Amino acid sequence: MASNFKVVQEVDVNGHKITKFRSNKTGLSVVHVDNEGPIVNGYFTLATESFDDDGCPHTLEHFVFLGSELYPYKGVLDGLANRALANGTNAWTDVDHTAYTIATAGSEGFLNIMPIYIDHILYPTMTEAAYYTEIHNVNGDGENAGVVYCEMQGRENSASSIMDLRRQRTMYPENSGYRYETGGLMSCLRSLKAEKIRQYHRDYYRPDNLCLIISGRVDHQKLLDALDPVEERIISKGPLPPMKRPWVDSPQAPLMSKTTKATVTFPSEDEDMGEVAINWFGPPITDFLTFQALDIIETYLTDSAVAILRKEMVEIEDPYCTSIDFRTSQRIRVEIQLSFDSVPTEKLEEVEPKFFSIIEKIAQEGFDMERIAAVIKREKLKLLDRLETDHMTLAWPCLIHFLYGKEDDSDLADFTNDLDNLDAVAKFDNATWIKYLREYYIDSKRATIIGKPSAAHAAKLAEDEAKRIEEQREQLGPEKLKELEEELQKHRAQNDIPVPAEIFDNFPIPSAKGIEMIEVLTGRSQPSSNFNNEIQKHLDNDASKIPYFIEFDHIKSEFVELTLFFTSTELPPRLRPYLDIYFESFYSLPLVDPATGKETHFEDVVRMLDNDTVSRGCGAGVSNAFRQLALVVLKTERAKYSEGIAWLNKMTWNTRFDADRLKVIATKLLNDIPGQKRDGARMSRACMDVIAYDHDNSNTAALNVLEQAKFLPDVIKQLEQEPEAVIKAMIELREILTHPANIHIQVQGNILNQNEPKTAWAKNFGLKNAATTLAPIPFSSQVWSEAGKAPGMKGYVVNMPSIESSFASHVARGPTEFLDPDYPALLVLSECLDTLEGPFWKQLRGSGAVYGANLRVDIESGFLSFTIYRSPDALRAYNLAKKIVDDYASGKSKFTKQELEGAKASIVYRIVRKEETISSAATESFVNQVLKKVSANYNKEFLERVQSVTPGQMQHAMDKYLSKVFQPETSLVVVTSATTKVKDISEGFKSIGFQLETKNIDDI
Ligand SMILES: [Zn+2]
Repeated sequence: MASNFKVVQEVDVNGHKITKFRSNKTGLSVVHVDNEGPIVNGYFTLATESFDDDGCPHTLEHFVFLGSELYPYKGVLDGLANRALANGTNAWTDVDHTAYTIATAGSEGFLNIMPIYIDHILYPTMTEAAYYTEIHNVNGDGENAGVVYCEMQGRENSASSIMDLRRQRTMYPENSGYRYETGGLMSCLRSLKAEKIRQYHRDYYRPDNLCLIISGRVDHQKLLDALDPVEERIISKGPLPPMKRPWVDSPQAPLMSKTTKATVTFPSEDEDMGEVAINWFGPPITDFLTFQALDIIETYLTDSAVAILRKEMVEIEDPYCTSIDFRTSQRIRVEIQLSFDSVPTEKLEEVEPKFFSIIEKIAQEGFDMERIAAVIKREKLKLLDRLETDHMTLAWPCLIHFLYGKEDDSDLADFTNDLDNLDAVAKFDNATWIKYLREYYIDSKRATIIGKPSAAHAAKLAEDEAKRIEEQREQLGPEKLKELEEELQKHRAQNDIPVPAEIFDNFPIPSAKGIEMIEVLTGRSQPSSNFNNEIQKHLDNDASKIPYFIEFDHIKSEFVELTLFFTSTELPPRLRPYLDIYFESFYSLPLVDPATGKETHFEDVVRMLDNDTVSRGCGAGVSNAFRQLALVVLKTERAKYSEGIAWLNKMTWNTRFDADRLKVIATKLLNDIPGQKRDGARMSRACMDVIAYDHDNSNTAALNVLEQAKFLPDVIKQLEQEPEAVIKAMIELREILTHPANIHIQVQGNILNQNEPKTAWAKNFGLKNAATTLAPIPFSSQVWSEAGKAPGMKGYVVNMPSIESSFASHVARGPTEFLDPDYPALLVLSECLDTLEGPFWKQLRGSGAVYGANLRVDIESGFLSFTIYRSPDALRAYNLAKKIVDDYASGKSKFTKQELEGAKASIVYRIVRKEETISSAATESFVNQVLKKVSANYNKEFLERVQSVTPGQMQHAMDKYLSKVFQPETSLVVVTSATTKVKDISEGFKSIGFQLETKNIDDI
């Protein structure tokens, strides 16, 4: 059959082709963004506008996943998604749209699942039972529950939500959808009815308000063929009444009529640090040039230590805040938000006047045009870099275009071609920049919101909530409560009707072999017979001798990324805590020329680095593993390969640890801590790290915020009284880290394009003496504490007045070798349990016991962990999870053939995902060959090992590892909890054999 879809627009952005199709029968839009790589990403987007705080857009988002007309089963979509080589599905709700997402390995599975996904979006069942469990219910204890309700309970009273709602209320009138909390306020959710959400679905979830944005390698013909049955089905439903376009056809909000300032409080035990946000309206969304100009001004003001706002407000002895960020949201009229994070409470009122005195001065004296030019050039390079490394770079403007672009799509190019706008603003003169600064920031009306931490607010929230529940219980009475509990169980049973096995069996799993991976070719600095390829030949042809270790990973990139990996094993315990200051200061210290002794001011160093690099960073570990390694990364355009190396050389050896700089940096790190201490999930991990890792030798323990909270005040004091001691420590730390035996280097980029890839190092890098042997790569599993070595009985229940729910971390020992024969089986077992719509999901999330629950097998740390994310009662969640695991361990529950197949398919996605872009593929090549000491083919071979896992091997992994996480004698536990629940939780754990200490966060 001839497709209904016609190409309505084609755009080329620096070689990436965007094609937009629309159906002339149903109005359904499809955008394909052609991107290299093995992963196909889908963002299925609807414009959603809502005029109250009931949260229809968000609750509907949850409804969609609970079954469709053709597939009326909860869990079927995620089960099938796994078989499409995805890791389930996901979605987000923003104030102006809802997007349903999926990412698959290869396109075959994507095209198979897409029509089924669309059936869920357009024709969900939206049953009463689904409403009850997924959105809101009152349980037998008289508590409000439901997945959405608990999610919002965890969010509504955070500093950012409180400030954001105040902002929305200030900027928009009652007839504007931008004014409301689309997630749903708790008080509204408690009385929201399912029928209202169903009506919302009828109003907004229509094919002509749906755009399928697809990024990755997909054949157009196959894509349109896969949509044929979708079209047929939509047409069979008959015509729809005409629809007004959300947002575009709604009354437009006026600009703010006056400048306002408001103070709100947020719950926080620690009253030291608050937040400030200044909000303005920007230009209409289609004024792209202005949008770009403002983006440059904002980057100019904040992007690095020499940017004026950071220079005068952050990088000073007594800072106003720890970070300053602009965020522009592309609404029909752009919203600009400037936030100042971690502002000392006594400075909350000073932030706004200080900010305006700075920009007023710029308006009078003009911009530094040289720096403006540098900012624009760098923004352009960053954009080109993002085009290589991030699918969203083009998918996002296509999404915004769908919401706000012209109906005939003629302006798609305008939404996607930031490169042209960057060229245009590069021609602006100083007067033009000043005009923009005045018009949008100085003269424009604004809404300033000050967020003040309040322990009293926290106490009142807890008190009010306890009282409300108490009253609710009383009002309902024991009879009604019993009835409610029965009703809940009935609905739950209804949701849990199993998906017929043949639905899964009829959905084919694509072969992983057909997925086109990105090829990375590896060579080494020394001639090597292991790498018989053109890269090694090219390297060998470069006559320079490099006596140290460099791995070159070749990819087709416009950029080169250089990374130094320092082994930190030899650091003595007294120096290790200084690592954070070392990382934070690495790229912003004065430089001393070793030949002449001439010093370059740190601001000039930063300015020059900005000119020569696209990005740079410093920290512990690679994506949260290998944290015993200190990493220094620098990315530059490929023409600046040698300059990049020279910079690494200078910053590694020639910086001077300046006491004033160190003090500024230490103060900033310290001021950031109270904000982190309000985060329940983060604190449960942090406390666990304190217990599980060796205090003296582990970077994870030493860099932990709870450790740093004690260490940094001492350093700051010392910098005032006896700075030499700190400087001496920093020098010592650097000497140990940069000892030749401790350095591994990776270069990723277009190696063949560099004429002398080795000579550039020989000329520019000061590591002259090779170490006879390189220090072995340290694993986190080598720095366990005594409790980490033999987990059992130990743990904390931590009282956190700033949160309203609870979080938990349960840890036991796991395998420590990447080639451990039990590893694939343990991974499949974990995936079976915690996959979307698997047992944890259904019984923990489905019963309202948690928002999320995860198992993680981490070979590098040697720990197997179970995490509870946001639960009304972490003890109940733990008991439920333990029962699930025990039943599988005893054989009472068994995984079906379909569950096993789904879990294995989902692992395919997760492994392939690691090599999603050219840059992640190159990183993975190094991680495998150098850090993990396995072959470059490790991931491919691992996929085969996963495919062959048997139920017997899983039983073995269960007995040997997983069941240990749920036994007091073999596990460690940390629960962070709202004050109201602390007593119940700690007594509950005691009654099942744990000896947990109850603590306040500051006492850990
Ligand atoms: Zn949600």
